[in-house]
Amino acid sequence: MQSEPLPEMLAGRFRNWRASDFEKNRERYAALAANGQAPAAMIISCCDSRVLVSEMFGAGAGDYFMHRNIAGLVPPYQADGEPHGTSATLEFAVNTLRVRHLIVLGHSGCGGVRGCHDLCAGNAPELAQPESFVGSWLRILAPGYEAVRHIPDLSARLAALEKEAVRVSLRNLDTFPFVREAVAEGRLSVHGAWKNLREGELEVLDGSTDTFVAV
Ligand SMILES: [Zn+2]
Repeated sequence: MQSEPLPEMLAGRFRNWRASDFEKNRERYAALAANGQAPAAMIISCCDSRVLVSEMFGAGAGDYFMHRNIAGLVPPYQADGEPHGTSATLEFAVNTLRVRHLIVLGHSGCGGVRGCHDLCAGNAPELAQPESFVGSWLRILAPGYEAVRHIPDLSARLAALEKEAVRVSLRNLDTFPFVREAVAEGRLSVHGAWKNLREGELEVLDGSTDTFVAV
C-alpha cells in the first residue's frame, strides 16, 4: 500500500499544534523524550471518536497509557502464541510500565455494543460471518448479552449491555495471571467506568454493590 501526502485538514491541524501546544510545553516534551514514559494509569476505552479520553481526564503527554478497541473490551486470557493486541498492551502496561491504575471505560450510544446486541439477537448476519473481524471481536461480550436479554425496552437493554461490557472486561481481566498478581500485591487497582456522552457524566462501578455511581 502506497503512502499518500496527509490531507490538508490533518497537516494544518498538526502545524497549529506544533506552533501552540508544543511550543508552550517544549521542556516537558523534551524531558519525556529523554527520560521515557512513566504513566500513572492505563485506560482501555472504545475507539469511538466521540469518547475524548485525554480531554475528560485532563491528560498531558506522558500521563496515561491508552488502549482503544471496538467497545473497549478486554478479551479473556488466551496464551496460544497468536498475536493478541489488547492482551499485549495490557501485559506491557502492568509488567513493564507498572501502571498503578487500570481503567476500563465504556460509553453511551456505543455502536460496538449495539453490534454485539444485534449479533447475539440473530439480527446481524454480516457480523456472524467467520471473516468478520468485528463480529469475532464482539463475541467477547456475548455473556453480557445473556445478562440483559430479558430487559424489554431496547434502549434500556442497550444501556445495560454497555455497562455489562465493563463488567465482562473486568471479569476477563481477572483471568490474566499477571493482573491478578499485581492486584494481590497491592500495586495495581482496577476501575470500571461508563461515560454518558450526551450529559457529559461519568459513572464508576462500585465493586461492593455492583452498581454504577456518578462521579
Ligand atoms: Zn463504543
